[in-house]
Amino acid sequence: MKLAALTSLKPPLEMSLMEVLDVIGSILEKGYVGECIEVDSKLNIVRGLELYWALEKLGVKYAPVGYGVCRASLEDLGFYDNVIGPQHRVYYSSLELAVKGLPTPMVKLRSFSAGDLRVWAKLEWFNPFSLSIKDRPAVHIVSSIARKADIEGKILADASSANFGIALAATALHYGAKARVYLPKRAGEHGRLVAELMGAETVKTEAELTVELLSRIYSDTKREGLIHVNQFMNDLNFEAHLRTTSKEIDYQARAAGLKLVGAAGPIGTSGHMSAINFYFRKRLKGPFKTIMAQPAPGEHIPGTRRSETGMIWLAMIAEDFKIVDVTLGEAVEAVRRVAKDDGILIGPSGGAALVALSKSIDFIGEGGDVVVIVPDTGFKYLDLIGKKS
Ligand code: PLP
Repeated sequence: MKLAALTSLKPPLEMSLMEVLDVIGSILEKGYVGECIEVDSKLNIVRGLELYWALEKLGVKYAPVGYGVCRASLEDLGFYDNVIGPQHRVYYSSLELAVKGLPTPMVKLRSFSAGDLRVWAKLEWFNPFSLSIKDRPAVHIVSSIARKADIEGKILADASSANFGIALAATALHYGAKARVYLPKRAGEHGRLVAELMGAETVKTEAELTVELLSRIYSDTKREGLIHVNQFMNDLNFEAHLRTTSKEIDYQARAAGLKLVGAAGPIGTSGHMSAINFYFRKRLKGPFKTIMAQPAPGEHIPGTRRSETGMIWLAMIAEDFKIVDVTLGEAVEAVRRVAKDDGILIGPSGGAALVALSKSIDFIGEGGDVVVIVPDTGFKYLDLIGKKS
């Protein structure tokens, strides 16, 4: 068996996430790859196309090349390399920082850890463009499109309440492209302003929810030749969290000797929580519980939606999870508690995740370490957090 750089191999055709999901699951479950990818003298793939695409979607560096049986551990494949950036933390561009400035930190919260349950906040505002988790899908989607086609001068369009639009604007400009962000009625003003500062066009609308804007974007795309990146249905969103967010938590938990028993986070597209649910169901031998926070009926928590408004990965991939209703008042109270006890200001959707976890202690069942995804910082929402609810 030889290990070849994955990028040197030439697949004859592309395969979708759904076509190789079982192979991805079995690699995560086993922790190694047991077969070779067969190639010809020009590195065209002759056999093992599913394995190639599974490895590509997992973001590994090397692939096992040869005939028949191979055995390569995740470490052999450079599985974790993409989430471990340079120690000196010097980057040649802000895009390189977004790609290599990983992992984002995990910090134990004094405010929510109790007894033998330790609560770790994964601080996603350490992503540089939108100061949020949404840099991850934006960077992965745009760089994947740019690998296949020249996008210079093109307009990349999508709906966003703030964070994804900012991340899309920033990523697009690195490729000489431009973003157009369709904003729902309640989008935060910072979402419009920052995206515009980064060169995006913004379109203010009267839509209640981002997903209601999809048909308008479809027709503008057809008429104007836009590229609709569609964070709501593009599997690259889910993949971004499989190859970075989930993998990082796995790497960080192993390195720090944590006993992961669950994760909690809010849902908007469901990209990050569906990926975390899939990844750890496969990867961990013991029980792993996933808790997802959604706004209670009639409530609005920035960046989140109710699951029945349609989330494809939640419907197709995630299993064995619990969705918990949270009010904005409860989320803000959790934000204030973290500020008071830990001295950090998390955003309301991170607060909602902590509330969902607190309401689900019985579901977690046993002691151990739980990761809570904190998608962004509370500094963006002082108008909400500052008000007495
Ligand atoms: N919280 C905030 C602040 C967000 O901006 C978003 C998404 O835009 C989410 C939560 C939900 O994340 P996801 O789309 O991965 O479900």
